[in-house]
Amino acid sequence: MKGSCLCGKCVFDLKGEIDAVGKCHCSKCRKVSGTGSNAVHSAKPENLAWLSGEASIKTYVMPDGWRSTFCNDCGSPLPMLIENGALWIVPAGLLDEDPGVNIKGHIWTGDRPSWDVIDDTAVQFLQGPPGVG
Ligand SMILES: [Zn+2]
Ligand SMILES: [Zn+2]
Repeated sequence: MKGSCLCGKCVFDLKGEIDAVGKCHCSKCRKVSGTGSNAVHSAKPENLAWLSGEASIKTYVMPDGWRSTFCNDCGSPLPMLIENGALWIVPAGLLDEDPGVNIKGHIWTGDRPSWDVIDDTAVQFLQGPPGVG
């Protein structure tokens, strides 16, 4: 399945089974997305390939090392390999078709503002997922 940014310069191919969406409600994801949470798929390193636009990919790194990758032309968030290279984090809204999956869980729900309402029954963690971070 293909995914792309708003301006269409950055295009990638996501192979294999597409996993359910994880939503992060932390304050950084809220800022970077401009909304209540970041909705992402994860993918194995070999399952994502850039088809175009790699020259437009920019990464912002916070002083604490937290990173956000985005299209330098339109500002859309883009897939990012986690630090140890073991996993792609793929913004769910970039996919060009509906992958037909559900939400698998929510993290950092303790950081939510009142207007960020969770209306599904997926598992919730007040902070990061167990065993991470
Ligand atoms: Zn773009
Ligand atoms: Zn987050």
